[in-house]
Amino acid sequence: MHNDFFKHMIDGSSAGYACHRIICDEKGIANDYVFIEVNSAYETITGLIRSDIVGKKVSDVMPVISKCESEDIQFYGDIAINGGKREFEHYFETLQRWYKVSVYSPQKYYFVKQYIDITKEKGQLSEMERLVEISEELLQINEQNIDYQKVLDDFLNICGAKYAVFNLFGDSGENFTSVAISGDKGILKKAQEMLGFKLENKSWEQDPVRLDKIKSGTITRFHSLKELAGYSLPLPLIALLERTFNIGEIVLIKILKNNIMLGDFTLIMERGKGFDKDTVAELFTRQLGMVISRKRAEDVLHQEKLFTEALLDSIPGYLYVYDESGRLIRWNKKHEEMTGYTAEELSQMTLAKWFEGEDATRVAAAAEEVFRTGYGEVEADLRIKGGNKLHVLSNGVRLNIAGKSYFTGVGLDITQQRKDEEELRKIEAKQKTMISNISDVITIVDKDGIIQYKSPNIQKLFGWNQDELVGLSYLDTAHLEDKDHLQREFNELIFSDDRTVINTEYRYKNKNGSYSVVELTAINLLRNPDVNGILANYHDITDRKRANEALKTSEEKYRLITENASDVIWVLNLSKNKYTYISPSILHLRGLTVEEAMNESLEDSLTPESLVVVRDAIAINMHNIINNTGAYSYFISEIQQPYKNGDFIWVEVSVKYSYNADGDIECVGVSRNIEERKKAEAALLFAKNKAEAASSAKSQFLANMSHEIRTPMNGFMGMMQLLEITPLTEEQKEYIRISKTSSNILLAVINDILDYSKIEAEMMELEKTSIHISEVLHDAVGLSLLSATKKGLIVGSFIEEDIPIKLIGDPFRLRQVLSNLIGNAVKYTNRGRIDISVRKVSLLNKRVKLEFEVKDTGIGIPPDKIDILFKSFNQVDNSNTRKYGGTGLGLAISRRLVELMEGEIWVYSREGEGSSFYFTCVLETDDFFEVRRRI
Ligand code: ADP
Repeated sequence: MHNDFFKHMIDGSSAGYACHRIICDEKGIANDYVFIEVNSAYETITGLIRSDIVGKKVSDVMPVISKCESEDIQFYGDIAINGGKREFEHYFETLQRWYKVSVYSPQKYYFVKQYIDITKEKGQLSEMERLVEISEELLQINEQNIDYQKVLDDFLNICGAKYAVFNLFGDSGENFTSVAISGDKGILKKAQEMLGFKLENKSWEQDPVRLDKIKSGTITRFHSLKELAGYSLPLPLIALLERTFNIGEIVLIKILKNNIMLGDFTLIMERGKGFDKDTVAELFTRQLGMVISRKRAEDVLHQEKLFTEALLDSIPGYLYVYDESGRLIRWNKKHEEMTGYTAEELSQMTLAKWFEGEDATRVAAAAEEVFRTGYGEVEADLRIKGGNKLHVLSNGVRLNIAGKSYFTGVGLDITQQRKDEEELRKIEAKQKTMISNISDVITIVDKDGIIQYKSPNIQKLFGWNQDELVGLSYLDTAHLEDKDHLQREFNELIFSDDRTVINTEYRYKNKNGSYSVVELTAINLLRNPDVNGILANYHDITDRKRANEALKTSEEKYRLITENASDVIWVLNLSKNKYTYISPSILHLRGLTVEEAMNESLEDSLTPESLVVVRDAIAINMHNIINNTGAYSYFISEIQQPYKNGDFIWVEVSVKYSYNADGDIECVGVSRNIEERKKAEAALLFAKNKAEAASSAKSQFLANMSHEIRTPMNGFMGMMQLLEITPLTEEQKEYIRISKTSSNILLAVINDILDYSKIEAEMMELEKTSIHISEVLHDAVGLSLLSATKKGLIVGSFIEEDIPIKLIGDPFRLRQVLSNLIGNAVKYTNRGRIDISVRKVSLLNKRVKLEFEVKDTGIGIPPDKIDILFKSFNQVDNSNTRKYGGTGLGLAISRRLVELMEGEIWVYSREGEGSSFYFTCVLETDDFFEVRRRI
């Protein structure tokens, strides 16, 4: 009975039961078990059939499992052998249910497994777990993006509703928006089609009846859609919806925070299925209320923050907040942009790090002032990232928050502003310097003529202080006689168009009372807003005026001179081939009026011969002046011009060529009548020619006569020599000696006269034969050596080495010149010495120029006599003839001979000390010598 009772009880139990016996190996360790008995619930739960398993080993029934679950066998063996009770949960996939499995041993080696369905409990539990999980998720939701759809989907799952709508209320609470809708997507689509509008993001008006209904409590139940929306939707539509979608109970769960309704979940249950998740829903919506309200608050805060940031970023400068230790704790975006530092870097910044040197000191002082007085301002160079600097102007105020002091303010980058200011200052300074340095005074007067401005140079130029005249009328400094015209011109300017310019001259009063003539230029700038007056500049032209006056006077003077001069003064423009001026004396010169003369061409005014001369002169001078050769463009020439009556007159013209002011070449000339001079010259020439002819005839005669005299003289001297060798008394011998000496002297005189006459009559011709300078010198010295020795004089001679040995010329005439000079030297020297030397001056083109010197220590020549030495028949002292003898022809002949030899003769002499006679001559040399010298 008992057994049956239990058997029935177990068989009828919804819990599954299975009884097993454990099988152990020889060591007593469990390695298998046998199914003894199972009930029908077990069969249902496990899907095993009683007849298939009872009496069988588990290793046979579920070979795979048993192997895998050898640990389970151990587990069961332990309970079967050692007793005790164990429990665990097992999920049967096929049934999709949870079971609590209890294992216990009713008897050694036996164990029972009991299966109790815990699916429901398990479900509730997992619901709670899920709720906690969702809550946690909700709490962690990023306020910026609550995923309303996900929240609603979760909620739908928890509550087991068919559809759900998530409504959020507006701030005023008067309307709400459906932010999400959950449920079968296809059905929802269909519903929306029927409704004719989209549910998602649909805005609804709050319905007062509905509002009244949901007033109390968190959860409000509506039995039908009609009850919920009967006021907002047409009833037939509601009925249709209810039918089509099988809509049952509708539950509205408010989302509250501090009794303020933020929104709701509207759950639509399937017909016949009631809502029973009140606690869960309440919990969920409370959590959500917290999240939403937090999100809203944060939204507001975030908006506020964005607004403040935008505000701070819109400040034109960089904003900063430093704490009392000088650490930068807040700043705006501009601070990062302007300094180039990242927020990270700025957070490490201190006030002191921005500035250097003197700036650092000033900024520190300003910061200190801010903390002390509440306000401060400073201008300094702020060092930004990369080492560059910004010139900043910063003001700071003290900020007291929660008992702590801060220093906040805005810095402005005024680098460009300072640069601009500096540039402006420079320009102003430059303008000032320019204004004070130009030679014009600049002034501005208003429309009433009152002086508004004077440039500083008025002091330097007219003696007035810069501001002394400001406020006075411009007429106050004008000369009484000039005021009228000045005022007239001023009025004209005032009433004229904008920017009209006038120029005028007037007498301007200096500070010292004197007047200067000024030239003034004024412009009407009344409409120019910067000037708004008449701008004028003026400068002193007194000196220029004076110079002009002087020029006029001097022009007048020269005009008078020109007009009244007896010479004709004229100007010929060569570029235009026209006379531009002829002085009136032309009438006197050529019998023409000025007008007649001006109309003449150059050709008309000259004889054909003179035209040639003049044209040549013009050509040369034009060339010189155009090519700027530096040759003096001035010439004087004698020309012939026609007189009015057809005669020709001689005229001397002096002409100066130059460019005139127009750039034309013109010549200014002076013409003088030289008719009388020409006549005198002609007479003189005639007389000269006559005299020369007479002189030449005389020379000719003398030459002939000398020759004629010399022939009988030679005869006479020959007879004397014959007479000398006859037997004579001593007395006779003496007479003959004297006769010989006298005849020698006479012969010398005759020779001189002959030579001279020959030269004068141009009958003297030079020979061309070879010359040995040493021989010539030797012979010349030899002639005077006896006399020199007699007088006890030393005679020396010297020939420079580089003189060619072989030369060609006239040795006889060269010796004549030399012997004459040596003879004179011996003659006029009583003691001392005579030195003769020869040197080469030049050698060019086979022609050698030699210089001879004959130097004595004799009586010398007085300076006033030197000039006449080389003229014929001249002796320094007439007594010389008596004392020293001689004709006074020697030096004259020598000069002529030297000239014939292309040379010159001159003397240096000092009375009582001696004389040096020099002469040069040109001789030819032979090729051979030149070649030799070159090598
Ligand atoms: P003369 O035949 O009279 O010497 P010159 O023509 O040779 O004629 O000389 C002219 C004059 O120059 C000489 O009379 C002499 O008064 C002066 N005279 C020439 N040579 C010398 C000399 N070496 N020393 C001083 N007087 C000289």
